[in-house]
Amino acid sequence: MVQPLKTNLPEAFTFSQSSLQDYVDCPRRFQLRYIEKLAWPAVETEPVLENERRQKEGQFFHRLVQQHRLGLPSARLRRLASTPTLGRWWDSYLGSNFHLEGFTEHSELSLSAPLGPYRLLAKYDLIALKPKEKVLIYDWKTYHQRPKDEWMAARLQTRVYRALLVEAGASLNAGSPILPEQLEMVYWYAEFPTEPARFPYTSPQHHRDWEYLSGLVGEIGRHSHFDLTTDEKKCAYCPYRSYCNRGIQAGSDAEIDLETELAGIEINYEQIPEIEF
Ligand code: SF4
Repeated sequence: MVQPLKTNLPEAFTFSQSSLQDYVDCPRRFQLRYIEKLAWPAVETEPVLENERRQKEGQFFHRLVQQHRLGLPSARLRRLASTPTLGRWWDSYLGSNFHLEGFTEHSELSLSAPLGPYRLLAKYDLIALKPKEKVLIYDWKTYHQRPKDEWMAARLQTRVYRALLVEAGASLNAGSPILPEQLEMVYWYAEFPTEPARFPYTSPQHHRDWEYLSGLVGEIGRHSHFDLTTDEKKCAYCPYRSYCNRGIQAGSDAEIDLETELAGIEINYEQIPEIEF
């Protein structure tokens, strides 16, 4: 017998940019993934092997950079960049000057704060700051194509990461709240190392973001029915296609635009265990 879907959030639910993005993209996906906790199959796109390889390399690249920021010698880490793609990304990373002289760095740092009756959590690739002067959020992206800046600006990651750092970052800033005007988020693209996307921040933006996020989690908490998205392009890279009767084959459709594809194959680093070095 088919079990009825659960509709209520577990108590003390913690939201992340990924779960909020899932809800915005498709309420049913949010429900299946975070309330029903249905397994997230490994195979999401075609060609399967190519995508799996890329995801594993992206995951490994993040860990290499983390170890490097923590002080492991680059020559030793270079030997671990054992595929042509990893080697290319690693060389691009080492060849980039991030201009972080004088900054204190926090790699793979998690921050959280209350958001209405819930919590909001984010795991940052790198936060670099000069207390009371400048705060930079770096996020490493291994996309095979560079998305438009407007698309990245609208992603929940961009809104959540900046807003949450303002709300929860005082302990990193010698006890003083981080002012939005001090903050900038940078997406550094391993395949396009000279074309990072930079997103400064302002107090009005922060006010709007926090209001929006508070409203969004309130809306999710009140939901009793999580609809399937009406934008079926979103299903092309979703692992719940067969569950929702939205097709069996993963998307390899040339008509799917780049950003839809990138959103579909984005690696959820919040759910990936650490790699041992
Ligand atoms: S297959 Fe489509 S409708 Fe179903 S959860 Fe995924 S995105 Fe939503």
